[in-house]
Amino acid sequence: PLLDPLLELRGIRAAHERITVLHGVDLSVATGQVVALLGPNGAGKTTTLRVAAGVHPVDAGQLRLAGRDMTGADPRDLARAGVCLIPEGRGVFPNLSVRDNLLMMTFTGRSREEIEEIAFARFPVLKQRSSQPAGTLSGGEQQMLALARGLATDPAVLLLDELSMGLAPLVVARLYEQVAEIARQGVAVLVVEQFAAAVLDIADHAAVLVRGRVQRQGHPDGGLRAELSALYLGSSA
Ligand code: ATP
Repeated sequence: PLLDPLLELRGIRAAHERITVLHGVDLSVATGQVVALLGPNGAGKTTTLRVAAGVHPVDAGQLRLAGRDMTGADPRDLARAGVCLIPEGRGVFPNLSVRDNLLMMTFTGRSREEIEEIAFARFPVLKQRSSQPAGTLSGGEQQMLALARGLATDPAVLLLDELSMGLAPLVVARLYEQVAEIARQGVAVLVVEQFAAAVLDIADHAAVLVRGRVQRQGHPDGGLRAELSALYLGSSA
């Protein structure tokens, strides 16, 4: 709140097939912050991330990056400005080795050595796995690889969609500790989750999206957690 927002969504309205699914979403993320966007299935969380990455069109409102209006900007311009989306399902290439998944990120201009150094420093297990096909890694390791590929782009804004999908709670908790570290080193992180528990432990701010509207946002304190449980999340929140 006292920090300048790096990524800012102001009154975002967006549709799928002419049906409005976001009805004026306001959300901002500052450098060093983890913001959690939570909500039930179909609330519009993924659409919000896609808007932030410039891959989904906006019907009204503004997308701002470091104070600049980027509404309608080409996704390439947003990527060049440091916006990195890690989609649900992680987007790693299962038939390529870990090393080759990382090697592909040399399109960023970084050398293989630099990329491996970044990846293995943050996720040492990837070094042990480097010659294995990515598809043979555990779900948590695949998510680490996806994050490592994202880090290779030197992101200013990291957009994470359902990082916890299909992973055991302990694995998710460890991944979120790494995400918090990544944020602290100077990245604005926006995380989408349907089930909230682990991300609320590290989030600086949380917003609850219901049917395309931010129903509540604030510090992920007891009040917000209680409201989430009451809303839809059951005991896991
Ligand atoms: P999920 O957890 O299922 O990903 P979400 O909160 O991320 O849910 P979105 O995927 O953003 O929600 O979807 C928001 C709304 O838009 C939903 O009602 C969904 O049915 C609709 N929708 C999403 N993708 C499409 C599409 N390609 N075509 C038509 N409608 C879509």
